[in-house]
Amino acid sequence: MKLLTILGATGSIGCSTLDIVARHPEQYSVYALAANRNVDKMLDLCREHNPRYAVMSDEASAAALAAALGGTGCEVLAGEAGLAEVAAAAEVDTVVAAIVGAAGLLPTLAAVRAGKRVLLANKESLVMAGALFMEEVRRHGAELMPVDSEHNAIFQCLPDGAIGRAAAALGVQRIILTGSGGPLRDIDLAEFERVTPEQACAHPNWDMGPKISVDSATMMNKGLEMIEACWLFAVDADDIEILLHRQSIVHSLVSYRDGSVIAQLGNPDMRTPIANALAWPERIDSGVEPLNLLQVSQLDFTLADETRYPCIALARQAWQRGGTCMAVLNAANEIAVERFLQGSIGFNDIASTIDEVMQRTECGPANDLQQILEADRAARRLAGAVIEARS
Ligand code: NDP
Repeated sequence: MKLLTILGATGSIGCSTLDIVARHPEQYSVYALAANRNVDKMLDLCREHNPRYAVMSDEASAAALAAALGGTGCEVLAGEAGLAEVAAAAEVDTVVAAIVGAAGLLPTLAAVRAGKRVLLANKESLVMAGALFMEEVRRHGAELMPVDSEHNAIFQCLPDGAIGRAAAALGVQRIILTGSGGPLRDIDLAEFERVTPEQACAHPNWDMGPKISVDSATMMNKGLEMIEACWLFAVDADDIEILLHRQSIVHSLVSYRDGSVIAQLGNPDMRTPIANALAWPERIDSGVEPLNLLQVSQLDFTLADETRYPCIALARQAWQRGGTCMAVLNAANEIAVERFLQGSIGFNDIASTIDEVMQRTECGPANDLQQILEADRAARRLAGAVIEARS
């Protein structure tokens, strides 16, 4: 029986994970669930999955949940200390890192430092602190399992033990990251400035939380994934090709020196990569329909146009500048997406805000957490000021 902590339990990835767990009660059991402030959803999940601990991000939400759960035996914790405690608890085997954004960094690192199997959905933590993160994985013997469908696909196309090892040493020539092109792929570029949050969140193939849905519309998601792949598979951004693939069936590919190209295919449902990361090297039922290639019939690939999607170029630039520049990119993006979702800036302002923040920031080394967190805070302040000045 494996005991799990699920960080971001109330979200899209958290719920997909719990769906798989419920299919295998003899193999997996929930030790802790954690969320931000969604007390109602957390209450439902606790009643259904009986965790020993539940964690909310603030005291008021934790008190409300504790009152509602009274007498069930589930202990409710609050804040960063509570998250770190359930991520690193000795009893826990596997931690699912599915908090959205930079808030996921510290608890995910706590799980890494406790040497857990870490199912990484929270790509932002690797983008912000990749060098330090991967060093901590090595030092503490954590088992890092990519959950992002593209990175899980690449993981499945590489030999065992490939995480953190130079892909070139494994005969890899390049990595091909696929992306659907998001909800705006067929919309005229001239229309982008009028795109609403509802349009940007209406992804044609995937059902995801609002932040990653907007990232998919701007294709910053692919930029973040490019950086994530650089850290996970020890490659340079120049070794990664981004292709648009509107069917979302081929989740990514690895091209080898001998001319072989290995791809992973499946229906677009996050339960496949989550189940893979959870059970590896075994394979378990995920509840996902088997792929019917006759029904799919056609697989299209085109180059991603970086004029249409400037966020990809901004991510490439952040990787090339290195150090804290990736934390700056991530923080500016989080603020811009939040303001777009609130309706206070337009769709095109997301990329231009990030661009301005990056141009006005002198990035430094990212050797320790303090440098990274300070760069994150400064970039958030600057992004807020840029948006304020423009309005
Ligand atoms: P959602 O918005 O659906 O869920 C986010 C989760 O994080 C919720 O449980 C939320 O709690 C919790 N959360 C937010 N802020 C905090 C905080 N400060 N402290 C504790 N918990 C917090 O996001 P997704 O599930 O879509 O995405 C989660 C992560 O997985 C992201 O990093 C995303 O990029 C990545 N990912 C997602 C994919 C998908 O298909 N959804 C695919 C690949 C990667 P609450 O409900 O209380 O707000």
